[in-house]
Amino acid sequence: MSAIIPSNIVMSGIRPTGMVHLGNYFGAIRNYVKMQDEFECYFMVADLHSLTTHPETAELKRNVRRVLAENIACGLDPNKATFYCQSHVYETGELYLYLNMLAYKGELEKTVTFKDKARQHPENINAGLLTYPVLQTADIIMHRASLVPVGKDQEQHLEMARNFVVRFNHRYGEIFPEPRAFNYNQELIKVPGLDGSGKMSKSENNMSTLYFADDNDTIKKKVMKALTDGGPTEMNSKKPDYIENIFALMKLVCKEEVIEKFESDFNNCTIRYGDLKKQLAEDMINFITPVREKTNDILANDAYLIEVMEKGAHKARESARKTMDLVRNAMGLNYF
Ligand code: ADP
Repeated sequence: MSAIIPSNIVMSGIRPTGMVHLGNYFGAIRNYVKMQDEFECYFMVADLHSLTTHPETAELKRNVRRVLAENIACGLDPNKATFYCQSHVYETGELYLYLNMLAYKGELEKTVTFKDKARQHPENINAGLLTYPVLQTADIIMHRASLVPVGKDQEQHLEMARNFVVRFNHRYGEIFPEPRAFNYNQELIKVPGLDGSGKMSKSENNMSTLYFADDNDTIKKKVMKALTDGGPTEMNSKKPDYIENIFALMKLVCKEEVIEKFESDFNNCTIRYGDLKKQLAEDMINFITPVREKTNDILANDAYLIEVMEKGAHKARESARKTMDLVRNAMGLNYF
């Protein structure tokens, strides 16, 4: 354990690799919106991280604007939180360099997300991908944050961030609190995909992920295609994973009594998955539509988005400059 006490500072980010989806919302953004009223918050659009897997930058500006707009439409308030774009904080590159000297090749190679991405794209296993958790640590500790609202997929990265922090503090002095993954409900969340396997994700299977940009017909089509079967044949049987996943999605948007009804239909073998999916599609549409409409309004106002980015960059860099003074002093890199 580090001797330094945890801060009340929050930091998290989302990559602009595609449209924001329900996994991002329930795993991360929902917590951002709550936390911005209680803590000092820094949220960023992680454009540099996106380069590890999406080196093409032709669409980057447009994607960054979309992610900014979608977060704001979900309730993130740039007047309450510092909301910025990762590449605007130049100090991050410097801290990332120092932390790289404290990260070992073996532990980086063992990271699950690295192994997954290397498998998916064997033609582009770059050093940035390998050191992804180091850059993420630099982002988090740049504001000396303790609380990191993220989904379950990020648990291992946070563990690595703590290791890098402990090593830094041990070698150069107690500068950084140890960051930890945060979720209001104690347990970290993983929103499953509609195809019965894996998680909803920006970059993977489009048909199994529900995006805030989806129109009503698309939402309906995706939900109706979700994997089901002929229903249970024995009372009170265990749900297969893909059915468990559909119930998990219902819990996010459906009323309690609706879920109870389908639970009891499942237990007494009278469940009709067609009806369940129709209900789920309707509730998803009601949940997604207002965010989609608000996003479109925000995207139509480019001057506002630029103002948000400029203000965020200014505040984030102010915090970064203070941290880097501490870091250079601690490391003895203050020559004059
Ligand atoms: P993606 O995996 O869709 O590319 P990011 O890597 O940009 O998303 O992650 C942004 C945030 O969303 C992270 O906090 C991550 O933990 C969370 N997140 C992403 N997918 C899910 C999911 N299916 N369930 C819960 N949280 C998720």
